[in-house]
Amino acid sequence: MSCELISTHTTACLCGKGKLIEEVYSDDWNRINPQRSIQCEHCNSKYHFETQYIQHGDKSFEQVYMVENGKSISIKYSTHDFHQDVACHYTYAELQGIRDLLSATTSCNKLKGSFADFIIKAHKARYNSIKISMTRQHVDESIEKYYTNKFNKETILTLQAECERAKGNPIYFT
Ligand SMILES: [Zn+2]
Repeated sequence: MSCELISTHTTACLCGKGKLIEEVYSDDWNRINPQRSIQCEHCNSKYHFETQYIQHGDKSFEQVYMVENGKSISIKYSTHDFHQDVACHYTYAELQGIRDLLSATTSCNKLKGSFADFIIKAHKARYNSIKISMTRQHVDESIEKYYTNKFNKETILTLQAECERAKGNPIYFT
């Protein structure tokens, strides 16, 4: 397999002193692979590049950011059970609201399309059932366990705000 350098782009480093380089390679299958480097003695040990896909109409493109080491612009987490799914989707207060909705109804089907929709889908996916008594019981457990999850909607919102702060301005190579 061969890689061919098809273009090189540069721009000034954030500090204004050094340079940021982007070398774009193409392989035998015309797959594009950009390699980016910080050629700045002040910044190359302090920052790294991160990218984010931006959807613009029907096109998506990669937005590049220079991010301080130790920080990140994206949160990585995965969920493995119903309680984690639910905790990542709702705040504690929202979950209590859902418990009230479930108590006031006789069937999960009546809550389809409502604020509780996510819970009903997640319950169906994990337990293959939307029996109201079972769903109520699991939601009670979710509320009980809410703050034992490493990730819940409340921690995610805080992390998202940190990601926004770490992002700064996008880098445009020319
Ligand atoms: Zn610099």
